[in-house]
Amino acid sequence: EFRRVLFRSDRLQSQMRQPDGLGRADTDEFIVWAQASFDASQANAWAGRLGQCLQQPCLINGVELRFTVSIGIARLADSLDAPGLLAHSLDALVIARRAGGGVHCVYEPGMDRQVQAQIEMQRDLRQALAGDELSLHYQPKLHADGLGLAGVEALLRWRHPVRGPVSPADFIPVAERFGLIGELGQWVLDAACRQMQAWQAQGLTLAVAVNLSAHQLRQPDLVQRVADALARHGIPPQQLILEITESAAMDDIDASLKVFDGLAAVGVKLSIDDFGTGYSSLSYLRRLPARQLKIDRSFVGDLESSRDAQAIVEAVIRMAHALGLSVVAEGVETVGQSDTLRQLGCDELQGYLFAKPMAEAQLATWLQAREAAPGSGAAEVAAGMAAGVDGAKQASEAPLA
Ligand code: C2E
Ligand code: MG
Ligand code: MG
Repeated sequence: EFRRVLFRSDRLQSQMRQPDGLGRADTDEFIVWAQASFDASQANAWAGRLGQCLQQPCLINGVELRFTVSIGIARLADSLDAPGLLAHSLDALVIARRAGGGVHCVYEPGMDRQVQAQIEMQRDLRQALAGDELSLHYQPKLHADGLGLAGVEALLRWRHPVRGPVSPADFIPVAERFGLIGELGQWVLDAACRQMQAWQAQGLTLAVAVNLSAHQLRQPDLVQRVADALARHGIPPQQLILEITESAAMDDIDASLKVFDGLAAVGVKLSIDDFGTGYSSLSYLRRLPARQLKIDRSFVGDLESSRDAQAIVEAVIRMAHALGLSVVAEGVETVGQSDTLRQLGCDELQGYLFAKPMAEAQLATWLQAREAAPGSGAAEVAAGMAAGVDGAKQASEAPLA
């Protein structure tokens, strides 16, 4: 993978002149900029040459690989400023991909309203970071055996002053695209540690999981930031779990290994999120100092209807256990799924069946209600908790705009 990227960046570079710039935006996304007064047709011609050059087949370990290259182009003249330029080029890229791929597309004003929406969202997100529009909700994870509380996952929430709640699935990619994810990630880490400190003061020891994005993983000072946040709030490192998606962990594996080793040395636990949606190499999975693996909710959702999904989940649990990892199933919504997962030996369960993500005050109520009704059977506990969930839904998990 790494060689592939190097190879392609070499080819990109061969098409550039001195003041031009080249950067890698994502696994397979590059940004090229040129300081020249191109008109749309000149830009098109240049993109055509770039595309042709990149689409030449290349040999890797004796295997001939061919790529399809889509290019989105934006001109500063149409974009006002740098964020606008970036958003416009991405918009043109989306259109090039929608057109079937292997084509290039120059942005034209008014091409897609999405562009404006992205620019506005990043501007509003900057304000949200400075103000009090962000909060964390906490979703419990339960031990499959006995359904005791194993910990909570912190999930970021943004209440926009006009638009109301915005889904992290919408604003995290924008934060990544516009370079805000570092600040956002730091906010989450600090807020989670502050909450753990407050719980500690109440005599409540809770393991908290925080999600890290692929971009955070590449921050050179991530390990230090995590260590500092823990120290600042007096939190024992083993109480913090960092969730990293499988695709983020497996992208640039050598870099991931280094960061993971650094984080493990600090003493925090590492968890592989959304497992099954990326492409893991077993040999690397074995080398990662992770402690936990979370089966993606798409498999959990299909458990009752698909034998394949059941076979996959069973295989994943066996493999994880063989590697010494504990397994969490995310997105458990039905008693049937829960029963199957427990039969298959899954270690922890998380999902709407038990509890939705809740604000801190609601979590406290939820915990109290559980304490008040101990010793009930698993099905009753599940049913009781599902009933409590509706309240949480109204108050804290209103439908996302
Ligand atoms: P994730 O880490 O895989 O989180 C699980 C998502 O599934 C959450 O969505 C949660 O609300 C939802 N969920 C939980 N149980 C169920 C269920 O039973 N059924 C269904 N249908 N959904 C369930 P949410 O909160 O919208 O977050 C989406 C994604 O955004 C997260 O996926 C995570 O990748 C990202 N995210 C959230 N907070 C943060 C954060 O603080 N930092 C970063 N980098 N990413 C975050
Ligand atoms: Mg997660
Ligand atoms: Mg997940």
